[in-house]
Amino acid sequence: MIALDGPSGTGKTTAARGLASRLGAGYLDTGAMYRVIALAALRSGTDVGSPDAVTELARRVQLSIGTDPATPRVLLDGADVTADIRAPEVDRVVSPVAAVAAVRELLVAGQRQIIAAVLNGVGGIVVDGRDIGTVVVPDAPLKVFLTASADTRAARRDAQNTAAGLASDPAAARESVEGRDRIDTTRAASPLKAADDAVLLDTSDLDREQVLTALAEMARE
Ligand code: C5P
Repeated sequence: MIALDGPSGTGKTTAARGLASRLGAGYLDTGAMYRVIALAALRSGTDVGSPDAVTELARRVQLSIGTDPATPRVLLDGADVTADIRAPEVDRVVSPVAAVAAVRELLVAGQRQIIAAVLNGVGGIVVDGRDIGTVVVPDAPLKVFLTASADTRAARRDAQNTAAGLASDPAAARESVEGRDRIDTTRAASPLKAADDAVLLDTSDLDREQVLTALAEMARE
C-alpha cells in the first residue's frame, strides 16, 4: 500500500499510475472521485457553496472508479466521464466540494473499501490524493509527499490543458493550481499536509521517468 499525496501539478497522478503499472499493483485516483461529485454538481445546477446541497447530491449519485492503472475509467450514474472530470470548469468547483466534511466522510469510506478489495485481490495498490497518508490509510507502510515549485506546477497544468486541446493560458493555469491549493490547505476537514512520517520528494527538476525511478526505489526499500 503506497500513499502518494501532494498539491496539484506535482505529477502525482502520472507517477502513481506509472508506479502501479511497474509494480503490477492496482491504482486509485481519489481526486477523480471528488471530481465526479463536482461534475455532477455542475450538471445538476447544485450550489457548490451549499454544503447541505452538495452532501445530498453526493449521497444520491452513483460513482464508479476503475483500479486498473492501464484504464482507470470513471463512471457517473453509469456514463463514462473519464475525460469530462478534467475540464477547467470542474477544476474551479472541485475544491469547495472537497471541503465539505460529509462529502469527505462518504468518499473516504468508499476509498477504504476499494483499497481493501484490491489488497485482497491483486495484493498491492498505489493511491493518490491529498489525505491518503494522514486520513485514509494512516498506517500505509510507504507514504510519499510530492512537492514542486509554483512555476513548475502552473506550467504542468498549462501543458495538460493544451494536450487536452485547450488554448494555452499560463496565468489562468497558475491561478487554478494556486486557488485550489489555498482551499485544500486551509479547509477545516482534512487539510492538505504531509504526514509526519512521509518522505518528501521535490519533483521541480525531475522529468516523469526520474520521478518514477525515485518512487520505484523507495518502494523496493
Ligand atoms: O488530484 P486532483 O487534482 O484531481 O484532485 C482534485 C481536487 O480534489 C483537489 O484539488 C482537492 O480539492 C480534492 N481532493 C481531496 N482529497 C483527495 C483528493 C483530491 O480533497 N484525497
